[in-house]
Amino acid sequence: MYMWGNIDGQYGRTVFNAAEAATSPLVSPTKARSPLDVYFPNTEDLASDEMRVIACGTGMPTTRAAQAAACFLVELGNGDKFIFDIGSGSAERLSSLQIPYDFLDKVFIGHLHADHFGSLAELFIGGALLGRQRPLQVWGPSGPTPELGTAYAVQKMEEMYTWDLSGRVGLVDFRGYSIKVNEFDYRGVNAVIYEENGVTVRSFPAIHSLDGPVSFSLEWNGLKFVFGSDTYPNKWFVEYAKDADLAVHECFVAVPDLVKKMRFTPEQALLVGTQIHTAPEAFGKVMAEIQPRMAVAYHFFKDFDTTAEVNDRIRTTYDGPLSLAEDFMVWNITKDDIRVRMAIVEEHTWAPPLASEAKTPQKGDKKRFSKETGVPVEALHYSDFISEGRWSEVDEALRGVYSEASEALGRKFEYPSK
Ligand SMILES: [Zn+2]
Ligand SMILES: [Zn+2]
Repeated sequence: MYMWGNIDGQYGRTVFNAAEAATSPLVSPTKARSPLDVYFPNTEDLASDEMRVIACGTGMPTTRAAQAAACFLVELGNGDKFIFDIGSGSAERLSSLQIPYDFLDKVFIGHLHADHFGSLAELFIGGALLGRQRPLQVWGPSGPTPELGTAYAVQKMEEMYTWDLSGRVGLVDFRGYSIKVNEFDYRGVNAVIYEENGVTVRSFPAIHSLDGPVSFSLEWNGLKFVFGSDTYPNKWFVEYAKDADLAVHECFVAVPDLVKKMRFTPEQALLVGTQIHTAPEAFGKVMAEIQPRMAVAYHFFKDFDTTAEVNDRIRTTYDGPLSLAEDFMVWNITKDDIRVRMAIVEEHTWAPPLASEAKTPQKGDKKRFSKETGVPVEALHYSDFISEGRWSEVDEALRGVYSEASEALGRKFEYPSK
């Protein structure tokens, strides 16, 4: 099936001569045209009935500059935003979208491979530093044992950052530096795991590596987004992803390219490429069965010499609407239309605006942290040994910065005493 799209509606009628062009309201030598063929973050409102999905990671565990690992951001016209998987390298993609971090506080993790949650720490700590004034909320599956569940993984990750957090408490607004984990049963079949503000998220089991992985559906305002995370084709996805508006499912590198480009042995390529993951031919079968308004294939390196192979193999089993995802692909979804574009982002991003006011550190932050982690309060300061190593020759230069700030801002900033 080949989609022509709405040529007249989007771009205006074709203008054939200069005289006509000069008087056409749609084509002008001096006026900007709209709508744009690309998405520039923070230049378009989201309509109250619209869903916008942005791919912030579409690649492999071995991240590369062109592709981070699994991450899809879902933005809804009611103001809610949801992150599905936060694979290695994806936090920097999210930063490029210039979204206040208070709005990026909900993460759903499909399974605990690094390429699906390896950037959680960056969103957790970097997000708190740049404006998330509330705990990060994480939803993720249980496992066959407690050690194989999301709560365990996140708790150990927080423990891993004990030194990092110990050095920040007392210096910054600490309200964002904690994680609330909502672990749910991985065996839940189309089980509701989130329901708020007209949004329902459900989980169903996936088949991948070990027991534990899940896929998600999100429904809001009559629109349905489905995210497979990683899975071998399974009966639950075929049933519960049916009639999705946007169905995102893994589609692995084609087996010959696993041998040629990823240097797998043929045995390993066949096993990993068809039994642990979903081969392009199998991806096509799944989509032909569920018939989404738009099928999205991700989890392969999308290059000039791999894309045709993936596409041709999908097309042996599926002829419906298809997006071969890459990082920063954007889908604007309404009941009437699904518009697919690429985002053009500013790479040199600084902090987005604050969605809520930052507070100065609270008295008692250190005490509370010490109690929670077992780190003695006195270890949350420099020891005398380290303190006495401060080189006092810089004092005068630094005092200058304080007087400069006091003068410029019209209030007195006291230089800290030792
Ligand atoms: Zn995986
Ligand atoms: Zn994966």
